[in-house]
Amino acid sequence: MKLPFIIIADDDMQVLRAIQRDIRNEYRDDYRISATASANEALALIKELKLKNETVALIISDQRMPEMEGVEFLEKAKEIYPDAKLVLLTAYSDIEAAIKAINSVKLDFYLLKPWNPPHEKLYPALNDLLNEWQALYKPVIESIRIIGFQWSPKSHRLKEFLAGNLVPFLWMDIENHPDAGKYMASANSSPSDLPLVVLKDGSFMKDPLLPELAKGIGLQQTASGTMYDVLIIGGGPAGLAASVYGSCEGLKTLLIEKSSPGGQAGNSARIENYLGFPNGLSGAELTHRAMAQTLRFGTEVLTPKTVKNIRIQDGYKITEMTDGSEIHSKTVVIATGVEYTKLEVEGIDNFTGSGVYYGSASVESPACRDGFVYIVGGGNSACQAALHISKFAKEVNILIRQDSLKKAAANYLVENIAHTPNIKVHPCTEVKSVCGEKVLEKIDLINTQTGEMKTVPAKAMFIYIGTRPGTNWLNDVVLKDDKGFIITGSELAKDKSFHTFWKLEREPYMPETSVPGIFASGDVRFAAMSGISSAVGEGAMAIRFVRKYLNEM
Ligand SMILES: Cc1cc2nc3c(=O)[nH]c(=O)nc-3n(C[C@H](O)[C@H](O)[C@H](O)COP(=O)(O)OP(=O)(O)OC[C@H]3O[C@@H](n4cnc5c(N)ncnc54)[C@H](O)[C@@H]3O)c2cc1C
Repeated sequence: MKLPFIIIADDDMQVLRAIQRDIRNEYRDDYRISATASANEALALIKELKLKNETVALIISDQRMPEMEGVEFLEKAKEIYPDAKLVLLTAYSDIEAAIKAINSVKLDFYLLKPWNPPHEKLYPALNDLLNEWQALYKPVIESIRIIGFQWSPKSHRLKEFLAGNLVPFLWMDIENHPDAGKYMASANSSPSDLPLVVLKDGSFMKDPLLPELAKGIGLQQTASGTMYDVLIIGGGPAGLAASVYGSCEGLKTLLIEKSSPGGQAGNSARIENYLGFPNGLSGAELTHRAMAQTLRFGTEVLTPKTVKNIRIQDGYKITEMTDGSEIHSKTVVIATGVEYTKLEVEGIDNFTGSGVYYGSASVESPACRDGFVYIVGGGNSACQAALHISKFAKEVNILIRQDSLKKAAANYLVENIAHTPNIKVHPCTEVKSVCGEKVLEKIDLINTQTGEMKTVPAKAMFIYIGTRPGTNWLNDVVLKDDKGFIITGSELAKDKSFHTFWKLEREPYMPETSVPGIFASGDVRFAAMSGISSAVGEGAMAIRFVRKYLNEM
């Protein structure tokens, strides 16, 4: 496989030599490095690489160059390689320009000169950027291939599962990809067998169920132990944090996830408010890091596995899965978060997964290239999705019920949207119905103020209209509020029947549910503060109380 490129542009020969030397010392085994003293030459090279179908992972440029400023050069380079990471080399006096560039050209990092020692000031930052790039980069060779119809719900389910589990794959649309037919022929497949999965060893799977695919790609499917200290249900930020802290503290820890780790956060194209990442990071990258961390500490992760019930026997918890398996543990942390609210309009069920999506912006956005896309909802996640899809689509339209986006989304997102020419916001607008022959083709809209109706062509519609807790499966195991959020800690004592279910001398711990030893963290918990940082904090905190409970046993 050909190595990706790192490009460096700096007119100051001394600085150019120094940065080239340091980059070569660290990265020459994994990247091809090309350095030039001219911004124009560097741009010409980048264009040539694009024509040759080469990949560029990182572009580093000095800010002060005679032909053009570094920010302008990076902006032009980004048009050619939108996924490449961008680093600006700056003197202390140019910091302001660099900070502005974080927003204007989506600069990934600014590096202050001098950067000695590179092991402290250069490599950690570049390693982060290159790891993030690698996580999203899909090498054409040696990867799993999925062959199917672009707008088929079955294809979408497989793509979403692999992307969520951070398994690189090559998508081949049967109607457009030149090699798709060859794979169909060698697998002796007909269109009714699609989607077809070609594994790395060349073997085929025709229209596999997710557990079969998971087994095929080597994901763990059964628990190795008979009793766990803590079993965590849900692999979003809260569950992942609980698993990291559980294993790190030496607890025998198992994490169960029904689809793919990352939860809602895994769907986020760009998280900008997570501590320590001033340039933001994608949900996929955060998940990748958290999974690597938790596996390193020894957590067992089972996915896809859906929990359907918890039974209590002599104080031990028996967690039942929909596939009939059961796992025993001393404690349980429920971190099942929330699920997307469904949009109830005429015709929508016919197109879910074939043009209509809940979340999934990062998986399906490349297929929206040059099309008209509609985003329903105007909260932070809807705005993030719109910004991400705007890199691919011809036009992104945000439909909101209110009269202004400012009422529902964070300021920085509203501003970014205002500066993105191919995003349009439609206030006081609702979807009436959707239609199409086989896939979504048109949406009927109504302006709720004027009553005006119109029909618009649409390649895809992404829905972000709110959430509800993922606790239907819990039945009456633990106490929930009338919306389904799990009640914990001192809130339990407010329930009239508190003394009928709580028999311990001590009060329930802050994240503890109405059943001693079963805890809840993250968005699923009643009165929790939604958001990634809070979920991570709650997951970590649950483990502190798991420990206390285990000491009492
Ligand atoms: C698109 C998008 C962008 C966002 N961006 C930001 C942002 O930039 N900053 C921010 O602070 N917040 C953001 N949020 C909100 C943030 O992602 C959530 O608050 C956070 O993910 C909550 O974490 P959690 O672990 O509690 O639950 P979730 O993330 O909802 O994870 C719950 C997990 O449990 C699994 N699960 C559910 N039921 C079962 C079951 N029965 N068996 C097994 N597994 C089960 C689910 O599959 C899921 O993976 C965003 C949300 C979305 C949707």
